[in-house]
Amino acid sequence: MKSWPELYIPKLPERFHTPALSLFDTATSSILTVAEKNKYRIYVCGITPYDATHLGHAATYLTFDLLCRYLKATGAEVLFVQNITDIDDPLLERAARDGVDWQELAQSQIELFRSDMSALHIIPPSHYVGVVEAMPLVVNAISKLHEAGATYLVDQDMYFRVKADPEYGTRSHLTDIDARKLFAERGGDPDRAGKEDPFDALVWLTSKPDQPTWQSPFGFGRPGWHIECSAIALHYLDTSQDASEYSIDFQGGGSDLIFPHHEMSAAQSRIISGKPFARHYVHAGMIGLDGEKMSKSLGNLVFVSRLIAEGTDPMAIRWALLDRHYREDFMWSNESLKKAALEIENVRVNLSKVDVAPTETVITEIIAALSSDLDSPKALSAIRNWCLATHNGEVGGNAGELSRAIDSLLGIAL
Ligand code: ZN
Repeated sequence: MKSWPELYIPKLPERFHTPALSLFDTATSSILTVAEKNKYRIYVCGITPYDATHLGHAATYLTFDLLCRYLKATGAEVLFVQNITDIDDPLLERAARDGVDWQELAQSQIELFRSDMSALHIIPPSHYVGVVEAMPLVVNAISKLHEAGATYLVDQDMYFRVKADPEYGTRSHLTDIDARKLFAERGGDPDRAGKEDPFDALVWLTSKPDQPTWQSPFGFGRPGWHIECSAIALHYLDTSQDASEYSIDFQGGGSDLIFPHHEMSAAQSRIISGKPFARHYVHAGMIGLDGEKMSKSLGNLVFVSRLIAEGTDPMAIRWALLDRHYREDFMWSNESLKKAALEIENVRVNLSKVDVAPTETVITEIIAALSSDLDSPKALSAIRNWCLATHNGEVGGNAGELSRAIDSLLGIAL
């Protein structure tokens, strides 16, 4: 699948040192230091293309954009893969509800997502992969689970035995009661008769007569959700031929993907590759609106494309989202957007002055803030302080260098 256009990322001058990144790992509930490497492998779960791009999506992809930017600033290569769940029940249900072809709906939403990501200056994935185009990979991954004896049939549907992975459950740390509730809420079927374990995950299901279907050694059908990410990540971020202890460095997504999606895709990957899946599990908080959870069912989603069509500067959206720590759940409001637009304008005004306050310290502070669990609010505070110093007449800085550093590390083009 075509990704969105590559971005120019200014290079940070070499005299600025980038400390090792410390990052919260949701699997161990602790801050871990990211080992310094020449190349990092990142897999971030993508959208199901029927409601793109709301601010929750934007906040999630912005988080991993910050991560990519910091790793690139250390001089490392970043191999970043994102999927698109372009065949799944919610997509088919939406297409049926609206009386449109499911493929046309998916294509239009993917196109919108690309243009929104581009406007928000999100670094495009090295590989942007749709499930439909990756079907042979997905079928191959299921075959490997089957050969490992980790699958069984209920009627004609194939399930993965989650307990085949001895580490199942160690990434989400949920009680059985909580896990069961989330599993049912998020597309699972804990109560289906014939399952060996309520949490076993569907990997291949027989399509209903009027639904799209693909040929496979297990009959005609289509894949479950979790196996697609295992298959795409292991193929495009392949570490089977090298000495890496883990298949990938980072698994990322919104915090609503911790369970069951990331637990299941990691368990399946473990059986397929024989290696633990990700070194770090990183999750972004959820975005609400005016005191309520932002959700499809409440009908209160705020779309990036709509804000831009109304004349909002995409950089103001970016600033507003960066002004809260990525792990925190956040209440979006018009006021937060207005405040961000004013602050961006203030930074632009100060950067355009002939003499500006010293910039060496503020750049160092931005780097230090981001190295500390991607603390973007602290980075923005450092920029505010610099604006104040410039406004108060301090001189001796290099506005161009600061502008390029903000673009490089925070993705805000000024
Ligand atoms: Zn995924």
